[in-house]
Amino acid sequence: MKFTVAIDGPAASGKGTISRRISEYFGFSYLDTGLIYRFIGLKVLSGFDPLEAIAQLNYDEIEVEGLRTEAVSKMASQIASDIKVRNALVEYQREFSRRCGGAVLDGRDIGTVICPNAEIKLYITASEEIRANRRFQELAEKDKGLKIESLIVELRARDLADKERKVSPLLKAEDAVLLDTTELSIDASVALAVNAISKVIRLST
Ligand code: C5P
Repeated sequence: MKFTVAIDGPAASGKGTISRRISEYFGFSYLDTGLIYRFIGLKVLSGFDPLEAIAQLNYDEIEVEGLRTEAVSKMASQIASDIKVRNALVEYQREFSRRCGGAVLDGRDIGTVICPNAEIKLYITASEEIRANRRFQELAEKDKGLKIESLIVELRARDLADKERKVSPLLKAEDAVLLDTTELSIDASVALAVNAISKVIRLST
């Protein structure tokens, strides 16, 4: 069975956690495309050419450790505006989306560019304040000196860059289901997403 769930949304909207939970619930494969851009960003920070970094990419072997820092986020967003980088990643993501047994992909351009024919598209968002708070809870344990103010500035700048870039900007596909998680727990958000997907599966079988 081919069934693609395309998920997009701004930074720290909860889309990563929700995508993972959806993939576990339905037994679908999961691709965190942001992790790919982060991997390339980290390589560029250590002196590699981005296309050289893509040639070395092995998604299953990406070490998440060290990829969620502010410096990597910023560089990931910077290289993500390069059309050569994006083009070099399209086929890998599309191939993943056609995996037998179903696939969930999350990112910024999944519903608009990578999988415009996905069986279901979700656009997951939340207020800036809530997103910054969630990211702070996630990172503060490891980074004792982290300031929420600097996180807000970083999130705002990255969202703006992702939304305003010329190639594949972050935007809600017209046919995407909007899921605003500002006032929802993770469990409640996952339940809404599972319901929306189940409905589509029922209609297509
Ligand atoms: O999702 P995450 O915050 O990990 O993504 C890091 C950065 O990678 C984003 O800010 C964005 O610039 C870029 N990205 C992208 N397209 C995707 C996934 C991520 O441009 N599909």
